[in-house]
Amino acid sequence: MAQVLSPGAVPDPEPMAPIEEEWRENLNVKLLCKDCREDPPNLYEDHASGDLVCETCGLVLAARSVDMSSEWRTFSNDDQGNDDPSRVGDGPNALLNGAQLNTNIAFGDGGMRNKELHRAQNKSNLDKGNKSLLQAYKQIGAYCDGWQLPSSVADTAKHIFKDAEESRLFKGKSQESLIAGCLFLACRRNQVPRSFREVMELTRVSKKEIGRTFKLLEAYMIKKEKEKPATSTIAGGTVVSTQYTGSTTADPSDLCNRYCSMLDMDQRTSNVAIAIADRMTKTGALAGRSPLSSASACIFMAGHLMGQPKTVKQIMEVIMVSDGTIRQAYRLLYNEKDKLLTEEILARGANPAKLPQPN
Ligand SMILES: [Zn+2]
Repeated sequence: MAQVLSPGAVPDPEPMAPIEEEWRENLNVKLLCKDCREDPPNLYEDHASGDLVCETCGLVLAARSVDMSSEWRTFSNDDQGNDDPSRVGDGPNALLNGAQLNTNIAFGDGGMRNKELHRAQNKSNLDKGNKSLLQAYKQIGAYCDGWQLPSSVADTAKHIFKDAEESRLFKGKSQESLIAGCLFLACRRNQVPRSFREVMELTRVSKKEIGRTFKLLEAYMIKKEKEKPATSTIAGGTVVSTQYTGSTTADPSDLCNRYCSMLDMDQRTSNVAIAIADRMTKTGALAGRSPLSSASACIFMAGHLMGQPKTVKQIMEVIMVSDGTIRQAYRLLYNEKDKLLTEEILARGANPAKLPQPN
């Protein structure tokens, strides 16, 4: 109904619907003694009897209460103020053998009997297998840290290592070369491939030996995964690459991104390098060349196309292939440039006029 207003009158404010308050729990409840109503209450929890007692008047407010506090009795031998509440060890590690639920005799207070028991157990119970596994895992972890690789790579490498050790097929290999092979394979399986040379520089195992170990490992893994169902999970819930169908060779376009970034090229240029590498794989322009030399040629070409040229020497230093290899691969790539440089690549700002003549 419209309001009729006289001049100068202020219209009545529209009646507002009352805002319904949301329900919430009242957290300000206090437990008071109903007799003395003392605030703050002076209550005492008697753990021995399970009673809640008002200390002022002695009224029992609650009986048989459940003790919610943590219980940390010390179980160490000398109970005199030496607080040692630990009675549990680590959880089982799927990467080690056994459930690791064995009992260890501690050194205790250093008394004669303790010492002897401790020593006797150490002598009898030397878990040599786990010790060497742990050492290898430590080494793998250190290598992966050195390369700032994600932990999934280290996990994969550790798993491959454990499987290989268990198979006893690699007895003749030194631990170092086995680790190097596992590392190489793990990088590839996690789509962060590293070249043999890079693995060699990290682990100081010869390229030839890494290659051999890797071939054996790969053959073993493929055989193994054919036998068992395809999914495998490890502790921590990480699903390691489900099925391994063998890695043909590293894809040059996978390599381009990393090497471009190592060469300080911008993302546009590395995208062009990747696009050229993809196109090259599709047309088979450099078929038969190693992925490293193909990638180096793509990067060299992309740099010139995008006006960010890198010299052969600069690329050589990063990718570590020889001068001649890069030049030769580039010559082949240059001869195919009409096929490689698609409209899409040109639209990204690539200028074929900037390409140097191969020499
Ligand atoms: Zn009271």
